[in-house]
Amino acid sequence: MANANNVDAMLDSLLNSNVADTSANILTEAHGIAAKVGKDSYQQIVAHRNIATYSTDQEFLACPRKWIINKVQAAMGINNRHSSVTFAFGHAVGAGVAEFDRTQNLDKAYMAAFLAWDVDLLATELDSKGKSNGKSFWEALVALDLYAEFYYSDPVAELESYETVMIEGTIVIDLENGYFAVLHIDEVLRNKYTGSFRIKENKTTASVTVDPARYANSEQALGYSVAISLLGGQDYEVLYTIFSSKDGRWISFPFPKTPLAKAEWMQDQLLISEQKEMYRETGFYPKRGNACVAYNRRCSEFGLCDISLNKRYANGLNNLRVLERAEDFAQLEKVDMFVKLSQLVANQRTSTSTSEI
Ligand code: SF4
Repeated sequence: MANANNVDAMLDSLLNSNVADTSANILTEAHGIAAKVGKDSYQQIVAHRNIATYSTDQEFLACPRKWIINKVQAAMGINNRHSSVTFAFGHAVGAGVAEFDRTQNLDKAYMAAFLAWDVDLLATELDSKGKSNGKSFWEALVALDLYAEFYYSDPVAELESYETVMIEGTIVIDLENGYFAVLHIDEVLRNKYTGSFRIKENKTTASVTVDPARYANSEQALGYSVAISLLGGQDYEVLYTIFSSKDGRWISFPFPKTPLAKAEWMQDQLLISEQKEMYRETGFYPKRGNACVAYNRRCSEFGLCDISLNKRYANGLNNLRVLERAEDFAQLEKVDMFVKLSQLVANQRTSTSTSEI
């Protein structure tokens, strides 16, 4: 475990690399990663009624009333996305790990983390018992220091055997029913020896016990099958590398996936968008009481969501932005790949019949 002395050394390295290595473009490269992880365009995406991301769909499934209120407010320029040390910590560690996987260079990883940290550099956070939750900027640097050791020693992940194919990739899928699904992928890796693909998700948690059941059936992981099929693969593995900030250790969980994952994900996307269309046509967005308290915080709409949406947002509901063509999404965010659902279905049929032979 790193101590205060080597944290000082890390900070020195970070500052020196900025001054001395401008020719190596550490700052420019790291900023590219951090900027993508930061996703400033998120509010613009939320303001569209027919764009779905993993996070907005999680919100829709948790409480359709909260989902539509967030969309109307985003379209009105009201920013509901509050910065917090927890989010900054997750972004900073994610950016640093992706950069380390790409370069195996800790200085570049520190810089990517520094640029992704979007709250006060000295900010900290306490848990419900008033104790530090282990998430601060310097602890993000310690997490990267530990990751560099984990990278070369974890027998499950075998990270040295993989090369990075894509970092913070964005894929836009035209569901061809008026809705568009957007996938954000932390990293796509390829085995240097077998050519097999692996999707890597970098997570942080304040829990000491990390249960694989939290990640095994994530629908986000099913969506990654789309990226793999576009890259020419079929079977793939999703590798979660998770940092426990309370325990100060990294752990990895690999989950193998088959082409069935893509079929399940596509079916789910169609059903979810049909549900959204149903609510839009009836003008009724149900409330879900189970979502009123999450992460020990009361929903910001508590007490307000009872007011009629039509009264509260007279024109807002009817004037939500609409994405007309998948290509237009590139005005909101850099896109790595576009694809239509019918292409994915055709590709699924080919891969299924090939695997049957
Ligand atoms: S308070 Fe509860 S029911 Fe109302 S919008 Fe928030 S999560 Fe939904």
